[in-house]
Amino acid sequence: MKANGTQIKTEKIKNQEPITTAAGKLKKIQAIAFHFKKIMETLELNLEDPSLRDTPERVAKMYVNETFMGLDKSNFPKISYFGNHYKYDEMILIRDITLFSYCEHHFVPFFGKVSIAYFPQNRVIGLSKFNRIVHFIASKPQVQEKLTVELGTVLKNLLDIDDIAIAVEAHHLCVASRGISDTNSVTETSYFSGKFRKSKVQRQFLNSITS
Ligand SMILES: [Zn+2]
Repeated sequence: MKANGTQIKTEKIKNQEPITTAAGKLKKIQAIAFHFKKIMETLELNLEDPSLRDTPERVAKMYVNETFMGLDKSNFPKISYFGNHYKYDEMILIRDITLFSYCEHHFVPFFGKVSIAYFPQNRVIGLSKFNRIVHFIASKPQVQEKLTVELGTVLKNLLDIDDIAIAVEAHHLCVASRGISDTNSVTETSYFSGKFRKSKVQRQFLNSITS
C-alpha cells in the first residue's frame, strides 16, 4: 500500500493470541496504536504536537479496555443466582438502563436506553446485573438490531426462561453528526419471546415503559 509516496508496512496480526490473556491484550493495544498512528499521519495531523503525540496509544487503550471490552468474553460480569423463594410470578421490569454502544458501519457511538421485562421461573439475578450485562453486550461495534436480539437470547439463557421482552431506543451519531444530520430521530428496536408475544402482555410492557 502506498500513501504519500512512502511504503506503509501493514503489520498483519497473524495467529493472534486471544484478547483474554494479558499478552494478547498488550499485543492488541500495540497493534491498534500502530495503525491509528498511520490513520492520523495519513490525515496529515502533526504527531509531534504534544497534544496529539499520545493519542494513538490513548485510543488503543480506550478501545481494548473500555469501549470495546465486550469483545473479550472474560469481561462478562460475574453473576450470582438466587432461588425464586417468594414464588414471584408477575412481570419484573427494569426500565431505562443507560446504553452506550458503537455503530459498526461508522465507528461512532449510538446511545440511549434499554428496558428489560421478564417473568421469573426458578432463578433470579441481582438487579444491577442487568445494567452490567447491557454494558458488556453494548461495548463493541455492532448494529442496534443485533444488540437487541443478543440481549434477549443471553438473558433467556442466564435466567433459564422463555418469557422476556427487550426494548431499545437510541440516538445514532452517524445519523446526527454526519450525512443527513438529523439530531432528533430515535431508533426503536424490540425483542419479544414467550408470553410477550401475546398482545395483552406485550401491551402491558409497552405501556409501562412509556408511562
Ligand atoms: Zn452508522
